[in-house]
Amino acid sequence: MKRHTGQDQSITRNWKPATQAVRGGTARSEWGETSEAIFLTSGYAYDCAADAADRFAGEQVGMTYSRLQNPTVEMLEQRIALLEGAEACRSMATGMAAMTAALLCQLEQGDHLVQGRAAFGSCRWLTDSLLPKFGIETTVIDARDPQQFQDAIRPNTKLFFFETPANPTMDVVDLEAVCGIARAHGIKTVVDNAFATPALQRPMDYGADIVAYSATKMMDGQGRVLAGAVTGTEDFINNTLLPFTRNTGPTLSAFNAWVVLKGLETLDLRIRRQSENALKVGRFLEGRVPRILHPGLPSHPQHNLAMRQMEATGPIFAFEVEGGRAQAHGLLDGLGLIDISNNIGDSRSLMTHPSSTTHSGVAEEKRLEMGVTEGMLRLNVGLEDPDDVIADLDQALAGVGL
Ligand SMILES: *Cc1c(COP(=O)(O)O)cnc(C)c1O
Repeated sequence: MKRHTGQDQSITRNWKPATQAVRGGTARSEWGETSEAIFLTSGYAYDCAADAADRFAGEQVGMTYSRLQNPTVEMLEQRIALLEGAEACRSMATGMAAMTAALLCQLEQGDHLVQGRAAFGSCRWLTDSLLPKFGIETTVIDARDPQQFQDAIRPNTKLFFFETPANPTMDVVDLEAVCGIARAHGIKTVVDNAFATPALQRPMDYGADIVAYSATKMMDGQGRVLAGAVTGTEDFINNTLLPFTRNTGPTLSAFNAWVVLKGLETLDLRIRRQSENALKVGRFLEGRVPRILHPGLPSHPQHNLAMRQMEATGPIFAFEVEGGRAQAHGLLDGLGLIDISNNIGDSRSLMTHPSSTTHSGVAEEKRLEMGVTEGMLRLNVGLEDPDDVIADLDQALAGVGL
């Protein structure tokens, strides 16, 4: 019966990541289906009133309501936790729901956090606009320099919050150094690992406390659904995060959880191939454009650090043209194969102009402080043949005189 109802964690924890990506967390129903089932149900029925009471009291194992638990969603959460090497995971409706919950569940009035300057636009909005309303202050630093984290610490500093590689400037953060500083001061680290995923980088191996995701990106990987996840210790997930999410409701739908489960089965294959393709495309662009920000290329100032803490550098990088917004938009408009799209992590090649799209909500001086210039373009290299992607860029660059 065990094979049908769930997995023995003492066995699954020892599986290699490739096995966990395909089988981790699978719980079969009485029908013994091979692929995970989608449980599209909002509620659960009880055999008797006493069972309902016991389940609400936490004295009987079982589910009560899909804002709180759902079998398909739980399968995804277990799979992500196994891949991350984390004790526990809670999935969310979107990446931003994950970031918001990961911060708000543990911060209170009077707290202080330190954030890397290069960050997803909405992550900057959280700390610039939302948290101050609740009396929570943020110091924004250049996260490439661990000393800046150290120098920003105050007696009330509760969290370090950063992404690596960061969106869209591809800043790389030294995970071991920064998590070490945090640990030494009793500060918790929240790492947004959307660009790398556990397939390429496991921040907890370097001492990170909480790793959060937009699963919309590489985990789904095919541009279909929005999803997010927060991973951490069982104590953090159950006693700090869950009271917040159970009552505020950023719950992932069972259907979207199922799509991400299917995405995870091919995550490793996709991200490695896309990383290879992105390197080929990066090598083509190097020399052709004035500046390229690609952690996989030796020209990136933090190339060695990236190679040390990542298995490969992923599908995303940025580059700059000298002619500002006009030339950047001209280049986008000349593309034939690559889509103009602000999504990333898709199996299709996509390109965007961050300063007029993803980062347009960030005030101009903050944008420039982050390194998001008017001539910057961000490219997500997909699973197409890289020679076709290069040919498309070649003709679009020629079209704007490059
Ligand atoms: C996309 C993204 C987010 C937000 O995720 P959504 O799923 O769009 O809400 C957060 N952080 C990073 C680094 C991202 O790329």
